[in-house]
Amino acid sequence: MDLNIKVNDKNHLDIGGADAVDIAEEFGTPTYVIDENRIRENYNKFYSTFSKYYPDFKVFYACKANTNLAVMKILESEGCCIDAVSPGEVYTSRMLGFSGDRILFTGNNITNEELKFVHDQGAVLNIDSVSALKRLAKMVDPEGLKISFRVNPMVGAGHHDHCITGGVMSKFGIMDNEAVEVYTMAKDLGFNPIGMHSHIGSGILDPEPFKLAIESTMDIAGKVHQEAGIDFEFVDFGGGVGVPYTPEEKLLDLDKFAEVNVGLFKEKLEEFDMGNPTMYLEPGRYLVADASVLLVTVNSVKQSYRKFIGVDAGFHTLLRPAMYDSYHHIVDASKMDAPMTQEVDIAGNVCESGDLFARDRPMPDVEEGDVLGILNAGAYGFTMSSNYNSRPLAAEVLVTDGKCEVVRERQTFEDLYAQQRVPPHLE
Ligand SMILES: *Cc1c(COP(=O)(O)O)cnc(C)c1O
Repeated sequence: MDLNIKVNDKNHLDIGGADAVDIAEEFGTPTYVIDENRIRENYNKFYSTFSKYYPDFKVFYACKANTNLAVMKILESEGCCIDAVSPGEVYTSRMLGFSGDRILFTGNNITNEELKFVHDQGAVLNIDSVSALKRLAKMVDPEGLKISFRVNPMVGAGHHDHCITGGVMSKFGIMDNEAVEVYTMAKDLGFNPIGMHSHIGSGILDPEPFKLAIESTMDIAGKVHQEAGIDFEFVDFGGGVGVPYTPEEKLLDLDKFAEVNVGLFKEKLEEFDMGNPTMYLEPGRYLVADASVLLVTVNSVKQSYRKFIGVDAGFHTLLRPAMYDSYHHIVDASKMDAPMTQEVDIAGNVCESGDLFARDRPMPDVEEGDVLGILNAGAYGFTMSSNYNSRPLAAEVLVTDGKCEVVRERQTFEDLYAQQRVPPHLE
């Protein structure tokens, strides 16, 4: 199987050279454990595979997948750029040393203040609507300002309906058939529109929709080049490259994927005589998903009408199973060699019956006190967590060549109300 699972000689789960059971003991649970080298490997594989076929290539990490400062700093040191979707992500990236030209901001339904803030931070604005374009023109000096537009390539795909971001039902981007008009309007306002962007969805393992999206985006870009006279400095095809979550799913053949898609890109560049703009991609999940494991401890084994393995985390810790019905592979980190003996439900500690990490999951003889590893937790894991049920947020630990460091303290009870005030009349 293509999941990232390593076992040490104690038959414990190994994460980046560290023993998962030792980590749980030292730092407590629930804890997200991040393997630094895996992120570097993922980045380098992605970058080198595409740049081999088209050297003028840049990776913009979609940091909403995981905004831990250490994770972003690792990618910064590799030379990666940032795809930011909020002013907070732009702020954090600047603070970590990403220069403005290494940040592309793809906002959706943002306010004037936010547009202005992102502009003042020096990030490149990827504009999502005519409304935002007009509002921006009134707030900043448009003269020569490099901008790009997100277009709707009318192709969508993803692991769940919530993750499909192209097509007639999508709220994202300008319409394909208004692109020429919008780029012309931008030029007339004094802007320098030099980029085009599309992003069709998330968690895509099937190469077919990407091909369609590249063709469609390039057809729009080609038309804009020819009819609006825009010379593109970059074309950005977004993110969405999936990773296997189940033991049956296969890793995408990245080399073939790159060869085919870059091939299409180059054909279209030639067809429309567009020169050699830089190709951007914005992987989020691909870079970080399989670099983290969420460690939890079994606190109760209950035989009810079904058998429930109860753990010390819930959908406030990892939302994907409850939100998207996502599969996360779960191992008993304390006994990786034990045979599967039963099918159980693995349940969280939130007071909601939808709070399950797995149903009917084959597991070994799990005992109270065992440490479970919920795999592929590095993307949309911690970033989607919450304080629901007044549960403090989990800790995060970075493993570097077997050495562990806390990169996010576990929240305390005080943190739960630190920003609240009881008004005087209630004191
Ligand atoms: C979420 C997002 C991505 C990344 O998606 P992944 O599936 O994590 O690769 C890229 N670009 C934009 C604009 C996004 O919103």
